[in-house]
Amino acid sequence: MSVGACARGMRDAFIDLFLGGRCLGCSHPGRALCVECAAQLPEQARLAWPVPSPPGLAPPWAAGEFSGLERAMIVALKERQSYALIGPLARQLALSVAAASAGLQGSSQLWLVPIPSRRQTVRRRGHDSTAALVRTAGRVLMRDPELASRFVVAPLLRLRSGVVDQAGLGAEARADNVAGSMYVPSPQLRRLLLRAGSAHVEAIVCDDVLTTGATAREGQRALAAVGISVRGVATVAATRRRQPNGRRR
Ligand SMILES: [Zn+2]
Repeated sequence: MSVGACARGMRDAFIDLFLGGRCLGCSHPGRALCVECAAQLPEQARLAWPVPSPPGLAPPWAAGEFSGLERAMIVALKERQSYALIGPLARQLALSVAAASAGLQGSSQLWLVPIPSRRQTVRRRGHDSTAALVRTAGRVLMRDPELASRFVVAPLLRLRSGVVDQAGLGAEARADNVAGSMYVPSPQLRRLLLRAGSAHVEAIVCDDVLTTGATAREGQRALAAVGISVRGVATVAATRRRQPNGRRR
């Protein structure tokens, strides 16, 4: 065993002894995601069009598929506050943002706009995981000095009341549930536009999971309603595309 591997083994054993942690991927005692499992995560985002796609949806990007390890990571962060997973998941989101922003013009500014979480959900979970992922993905992207001035984390979208949890709803019910549900408050928009100055602004709608695309499409609509064009949708993972009859593609 190399010195590095030995040191890591000891650190993982220490974490396990005092914190009782285990890798989500392989159950190795230690951190929430061991180095080997982290190395298996996707290194590139791909286009992940839902089938069917909501008309007019901006190109949706996802680093991974919402299954296996990635699903376990997202669920652990959302439902069990496994904050150690924010870093690896945010790096996945950053891959999608980078793919969505490819070919951006010289002086343009890109606003990373998280899909808002329901207040009840944030209260129940004790945190807003999507907002945290977007903030951290923004920091990952801004480490590149050339990109630092381009990306702005812009939590602009708000939810009107009356929206129920999307989990468990079919494609049509999801679309009905979110239609007209989001808006952009004027003071926040004005502040960000002032900061942008004369730069051309485009937005990327960011979320953890892309399912039917209805939520992202609604975010896109609300941004377009205040004159902000959406360049793409960036997500950590997408559910496997399904035919309308439920068959997997
Ligand atoms: Zn592992």
